[in-house]
Amino acid sequence: MTDIQVPVLIVGGGGAGLTASMSLSNLGVDSLLVSGLPGTSTLPKAHVLNQRAMEIFTEVGVAPEIYKRSTPAANMRANGWYAGLAGAHDGYGRKLGELEAWGGGYTDPDYVAASPCRTCNLPQIRLEPVLKEHAEKLNPGGIRFNHELIDLVQDADGVTATVRDKDADATYQVRSQYLIAADGGRTVGKLVGVEMNGPRDIMKMVSIHMTADLSPWAADDDVLIRWLVNPDFGGSWSGVLVPMGPDHWGPESEEWVFHMQYATDDPDAMQEEKVLARMRASLGLPPDLVPTVHRISQWVMEGVIADKFRQGRVFFAGDAAHRHPPTGGLGLTSAIHDVYNLSWKLAAVLAGRAGDGLLDTYEAERKPVDKNNIDNAIANAMNHFTIDKALGLSPEKTPEENWAELAPLWHELPESAAKRHALNRAIGSQTMEFRHHNVEFGYRYDSTAIVSDGSPEYVPLDPVRLYEPSSQPGHPMPHAFVERRGERIPLGTLVHGGKFLLLAGEEGHAWVEAANKIAAENDLPLVAGTVGVLDSDFIDVRCAWLKNRGISSTGAVLVRPDRYVAFRSSDGVADPHAALEDALSQVLSTELR
Ligand SMILES: Cc1cc2nc3c(=O)[nH]c(=O)nc-3n(C[C@H](O)[C@H](O)[C@H](O)COP(=O)(O)OP(=O)(O)OC[C@H]3O[C@@H](n4cnc5c(N)ncnc54)[C@H](O)[C@@H]3O)c2cc1C
Repeated sequence: MTDIQVPVLIVGGGGAGLTASMSLSNLGVDSLLVSGLPGTSTLPKAHVLNQRAMEIFTEVGVAPEIYKRSTPAANMRANGWYAGLAGAHDGYGRKLGELEAWGGGYTDPDYVAASPCRTCNLPQIRLEPVLKEHAEKLNPGGIRFNHELIDLVQDADGVTATVRDKDADATYQVRSQYLIAADGGRTVGKLVGVEMNGPRDIMKMVSIHMTADLSPWAADDDVLIRWLVNPDFGGSWSGVLVPMGPDHWGPESEEWVFHMQYATDDPDAMQEEKVLARMRASLGLPPDLVPTVHRISQWVMEGVIADKFRQGRVFFAGDAAHRHPPTGGLGLTSAIHDVYNLSWKLAAVLAGRAGDGLLDTYEAERKPVDKNNIDNAIANAMNHFTIDKALGLSPEKTPEENWAELAPLWHELPESAAKRHALNRAIGSQTMEFRHHNVEFGYRYDSTAIVSDGSPEYVPLDPVRLYEPSSQPGHPMPHAFVERRGERIPLGTLVHGGKFLLLAGEEGHAWVEAANKIAAENDLPLVAGTVGVLDSDFIDVRCAWLKNRGISSTGAVLVRPDRYVAFRSSDGVADPHAALEDALSQVLSTELR
């Protein structure tokens, strides 16, 4: 007997599941979320939230609360490298270099031009409760923690899931049309035969979450992540120190997480006393400073991806679909991007406005992006070793030998210039992680839900670092602030609530008329208007849209509800109604009227 019927069942109450719940609620789709544990994550994992994640959180209304609790921009302008933190001589804690991080606290003009949202930093243990509270507000009664999915079967019409209510020690059945597996890869994949492939033991890490006053040694207000390249311990992955707030950031942070690398078969990683002793030694803490340890966690960096993102009516998102090293902050953020891509498609199909083919584009679009994230995250992790190499540090050398390698940085010696150059070069190369704007933000989609305009294939100037705004179909819609009746709005927010957006040039009124007609004929949420400096529905006061629109004054750009360009016509056409109808039919995988 089925106890509950709901259009979408979400399994997992981490970042992916909670964002799926908020997105679906925002689109008017009823859902039920079940999550196996009593509460949100207690592990200090993700913290960096990129611009697209913050755009998504803006749309569902939770961004202001996240920004309020997060690291101020001034305390996350850069990441720094230091020779350890504290210790017996003045070499400890000396700065080796720093690099702007993820838009330099929203001062990098490219990041400012790309999005109205700045990169944010809020540890997952503080983020998830905010997401949960907001998801509950949007869907009262629809978020059930301590409810674990234990079985599921699917047929042509839906999915029947068996859920155990751990509080009541009872099971019940949920019948849904679709199921989102956001369970971190723990249960659903095994039940429906979806496998994860890729390397599983790239690096073993131990993370310690603690309260400690490190302000006497943690210099530099503007630094977020401190890579403590301690010569006593060989190099870069010997210690990474991340502030956790919650009330102060920078050197004054009350809480910290310290990550240390271990050999994958090192039994010491499992022994708390040894782990803490190594942490004390690595940080060089004085005997009278005793941190309050909240949690020690062991984890392994993987690089795995699900062989399928869709299995019938089940969709895989977040860590259930891909897991990779945290370097670059792409794990939680891509989980958020995954479900955002999926939500509007589910909403369109459930409303009868799109065919099932639209749901196939979820895998076609997200899998290549997530695979690229995996490759980049692994490359980022490995590239940190080039800094050790440039310095001449190695775990095989004695501490004295390693310290001697650093001497040319701080004393004028014949090899000083070469060593400093090598170090700066190695640190500069880490822009592949800390300025990977085209990976985290500029990625493109290629599927049947994108209508090619036949323009030459985009060749990036730098596929990793540089996001080049473009209105070519498949690209994220370029950001522009415009004015409407005196109000300043980011153009991209016009899609909020699951709307298509037709933006025509100043003389593209025929496109706007056609779009409005199609919207009325098909009950399709579609906003249309002209954009220009004069006499337009949206006034392009800064010419920001003009710069990137890629069409003439008679052309048009059609944007999907997830802010991706679906279709573009560089000029006016004889029958804009037919052109738009064809485009939308292809995107939605259905025949419009
Ligand atoms: C040290 C570290 C640092 C990181 N830093 C970053 C960063 O800066 N930025 C970033 O973007 N990512 C980062 N990540 C990665 C990020 O933490 C993960 O990618 C993210 O947690 C994935 O979210 P998720 O919701 O997909 O899965 P999870 O967070 O694993 O959530 C899965 C949920 O499903 C529930 N569940 C499991 N099985 C069942 C079941 N049978 N029934 C019901 N519920 C179930 C679980 O209880 C859990 O609530 C980091 C990871 C680590 C380890």
